[in-house]
Amino acid sequence: MYRAPVDEIAFTLKHVVGLEKGLADGRFGDLSADLVDAVLTEAGRFATEEIAPLAKIGDSQGARFKDGKVTMPDGWRDLYHRWKDGGWNALAGPVDFGGQGLPIMLAIATMEMWCSGSVAFGLGPTLTQGAVEALDKHGSEELKAIYLEKLVSGEWMGTMNLTEPQAGSDLAALKSRAVPAGDGTYRIFGQKIFITYGEHDFTDNIVHLVLARLPDAPAGTRGISLFLVPKFIPDADGRPGRRNDAFCHSIEHKLGIHASPTCTMIYGDGKADGMEPGAIGWLVGEENRGLACMFTMMNNARLQVGIEGVAIAETAYQKALAYASDRRQGRAPGYAGEGMSPIAGHPDVKRNLLTMKSLTQASRAIAYSCAHALDMAHSSDGADATFWQERANLLTPIAKAFSTDIGVEAASIGVQIHGGMGFIEETGAASLYRDARIAPIYEGTNGIQAIDLVTRKLPQSGGEHVLGYIGELKADAEALRKSNLPGLGRTADRLDAALADFEGATRWLQQAMADGRIAEALAGATPYLRLFGLASGGAYLARGAVAGRDVARVSLARFYAENLVSESAALRDRVENGAESLEAAAAALAG
Ligand SMILES: Cc1cc2nc3c(=O)[nH]c(=O)nc-3n(C[C@H](O)[C@H](O)[C@H](O)COP(=O)(O)OP(=O)(O)OC[C@H]3O[C@@H](n4cnc5c(N)ncnc54)[C@H](O)[C@@H]3O)c2cc1C
Repeated sequence: MYRAPVDEIAFTLKHVVGLEKGLADGRFGDLSADLVDAVLTEAGRFATEEIAPLAKIGDSQGARFKDGKVTMPDGWRDLYHRWKDGGWNALAGPVDFGGQGLPIMLAIATMEMWCSGSVAFGLGPTLTQGAVEALDKHGSEELKAIYLEKLVSGEWMGTMNLTEPQAGSDLAALKSRAVPAGDGTYRIFGQKIFITYGEHDFTDNIVHLVLARLPDAPAGTRGISLFLVPKFIPDADGRPGRRNDAFCHSIEHKLGIHASPTCTMIYGDGKADGMEPGAIGWLVGEENRGLACMFTMMNNARLQVGIEGVAIAETAYQKALAYASDRRQGRAPGYAGEGMSPIAGHPDVKRNLLTMKSLTQASRAIAYSCAHALDMAHSSDGADATFWQERANLLTPIAKAFSTDIGVEAASIGVQIHGGMGFIEETGAASLYRDARIAPIYEGTNGIQAIDLVTRKLPQSGGEHVLGYIGELKADAEALRKSNLPGLGRTADRLDAALADFEGATRWLQQAMADGRIAEALAGATPYLRLFGLASGGAYLARGAVAGRDVARVSLARFYAENLVSESAALRDRVENGAESLEAAAAALAG
């Protein structure tokens, strides 16, 4: 059973990504280290004692659909209400609307714990919090007054409606329509698929944020607007009133996250009693600028999806470690006990466990660093704010894609450590593997993240931002070398080599983009993202080792540097030299 690693989470926040300095500088008002610890401890208790025990029924029973209604698994509605009543949804929400205004770092750390308990549970609040951010930034004062307080508290939940059958990664193909009604509202028509928490019984109302096209809107992504479409239109007292023409048609049967309802939503089919066809919607932001508004929500959601990967990796590691300590097979070299030894003593199982553990720590540090950058951007002005926003922009695709790949890898290794029992549902290792598989797909596939990294993030500040970031990581490697901590082995050398590969591949991609060799650059995008994650993860582990000066952190940083980071040379080679063989083989096989 999952136990929230509260101490490790607190250490990473404070000493690896900079929360401690932020507190000392008074950046977060009167927030103190004691309050941070209290929040994390209580979140850890809730995730461990209340969410995790309901994960299994969530997986086996799943969300159920009948007559247009979705019933959540037994016990989940109460669970949601206990969670909401604990104020967890409002943690980082805007203070003007009942939020606690705490740092995003803390919200992300607690999200890790909710998702370690059950990703299917954490997913609903992910979208609500994204809706809060989009509405807070782009909504009219009138919309904010009606909806924000209820969304911030979690009394109502939010959804994000982009995907249509013909428009997945490419939103330019989106067809849903919005027609002005002449009274300041719009009528929305269209079908959206795969809408997470599009219908459920957690809350009295659901607030859908829907992308659609106005009549005569320009083609492509410049002609998309964002609309708020409530399931029930609030009455004069702000309570759920008339039913809107926005209905869930069905829910999907999926590989994993069974308790998260994935809905086909139909807008404007004329199914609401006493209403002309057309779901009533309100414009959010400006006409034809919907994608920019939605990106506010998507950047937040991308980081939160990244944390799902960290969360699953953590749970998978804990489960595998417990099993490996208990299960006995063979005799590990040097085992002095009676009979068979625990499998945890076999070098190959040790390697698997340490791979899981160190990749989890590395991806956690990356995701928290991204959250830290957002907090710094929000609490800075002028050039500082630009710097930190660029840092958050740079780290978002890594936090999303590297961490979710690690989630899948760790869950897979976890199944392997369980042997045959890993393939049997009873242990829960299999469900983690199934749940992990969606995260590299939704919120922009990991392939799309890699393209975003290379084409939009590397050019920031004329290419200098990423190079400055690599410089900071080099300083971490240098600090580790100078620390002379016992047991470091070749850690600093390996990190230096990896960071040199990272810098070399970065400069190569920047040049390729500048030369217009776009296909070459795109062919290397995914190996580059992996290289970025591996190398920066190694530097963060080194930073933790220097800060903690304890044997566990030092030896984990060393294991990672000597066993995993050395892939960097091969990854750099794939970035710089992979395109030719890729094009040649693809052409030969096609012809
Ligand atoms: C369980 C679940 C929940 C979801 N929740 C939501 C939600 O709440 N709201 C919502 O709007 N959507 C949601 N989605 C949709 C999800 O975001 C999309 O499935 C995802 O963006 C990919 O789109 P697609 O499925 O159409 O795949 P496609 O776009 O068809 O992609 C297929 C493959 O082609 C690759 N590819 C596509 N275009 C390119 C390109 N230009 N360059 C390189 N490779 C490319 C992709 O990386 C991918 O590997 C959800 C999906 C699932 C399965």
